[in-house]
Amino acid sequence: MVSRNILVINCGSSSLKFALVNPEQSQFAISGLAECLNTPQAVVSWKIGEDKNTLSIPSGDHKDALSKIMPLVQEICHGKLDGIGHRVVHGGHIFTAPTKITPQVLSEIERISPLAPLHNPAALQGMRAALDVYPDLLQVAIFDTAFHQTMPEQAFRYCIPEDYYSKHNIRRYGFHGTSHRYVSHQTAEFCNLPVDNSHWLTAHLGNGSSTCAVSNGKSVDTSMGLTPQEGVCMGTRSGDVDPGLFGHLSRVLGMSINEIENLLTKQSGLLGLSGLSNDMRTLEQSREEGHKGATLAIEVFCYRLAKSLASMACALPRLDGLIFTGGIGENSSLIRELTVSWLKLLGLEIDTQANTKLARGTAGLINKPNTPRIVVMPTNEERQIALDTLLFVK
Ligand code: AMP
Repeated sequence: MVSRNILVINCGSSSLKFALVNPEQSQFAISGLAECLNTPQAVVSWKIGEDKNTLSIPSGDHKDALSKIMPLVQEICHGKLDGIGHRVVHGGHIFTAPTKITPQVLSEIERISPLAPLHNPAALQGMRAALDVYPDLLQVAIFDTAFHQTMPEQAFRYCIPEDYYSKHNIRRYGFHGTSHRYVSHQTAEFCNLPVDNSHWLTAHLGNGSSTCAVSNGKSVDTSMGLTPQEGVCMGTRSGDVDPGLFGHLSRVLGMSINEIENLLTKQSGLLGLSGLSNDMRTLEQSREEGHKGATLAIEVFCYRLAKSLASMACALPRLDGLIFTGGIGENSSLIRELTVSWLKLLGLEIDTQANTKLARGTAGLINKPNTPRIVVMPTNEERQIALDTLLFVK
């Protein structure tokens, strides 16, 4: 098999994360981050093996960052870059699979940008910059929402009048699709079960978190909705709240829509509950030291997560296992244990020793014998994006 090299790009409004992926190798040949773009502090940093470097690019934008990154990438893969895979947060109802980028595809992504006003314009900037720098190179868009396009209507519709769906595309879309797909497929393989005859609950727990029900390799329900705000408690996002909260905060506290959105997306979740931090490591340590806010935040996080997983189970005909992934799911034995303690009705029971002993970054089974599988499976969205991009390489 010919060795392939795919550059994976993930753009934020002022940042650009990148990794050069060779699917045959577990480590990225080069990976890095350009941040503070369009400000005097703009900087690109990257890592090749253990070697770390930084380059200041004052007021540089996404294109300037790529112009610095691309020669490094080309040098490492000896000028044999096969393509670029771009992570795009929202594909609306239009994009159900990885899509080769053309001017028409860019216009479609632009048209659905109101669904992800912070994320899609940033991805567009990155895609346009990459096309400017390498107009002849294969470029593919991989959408966070695409995996969930298999959800049945009872799972993706909100209980609001039909017109809002049919005329304005207001429905549940779901996010983190690349990760839910990757870990559910990897876990089926790990457990020697056929992907197309297996049924999983997945919990992607990072700064943003979501759950998913995956049946025969397809998403059948997920906790995030029209936006990544719906669902479980997250680092700074509230997850589910009573929709009546908007009107209440507006009438009683005179808050504007922007203020309410800021409250619910940037000041809530673990940070809001603990009054301390959105970082689970900090919260676990503070809980050990008896911090009340940190203890409460962890309790609420696990309880709400368990509730979400139990509700996802409705979508499955049988349960082959629960999968934990993401920075928290892969690393926190405490969160796994507390969450599973609420799921006895599903028959799930954790093996405390296997749970605490599992080495970082490895896949493993942590359930008690003769109970449904509980699996820790490291996610690798970059690798999945590279594999999806490779499908277009002739
Ligand atoms: P991610 O967005 O997937 O990078 O995950 C970030 C989250 O993972 C943060 O809340 C981190 O505190 C959390 N995390 C990373 N390592 C650990 C760890 N060893 N124990 C608990 N949480 C961790």
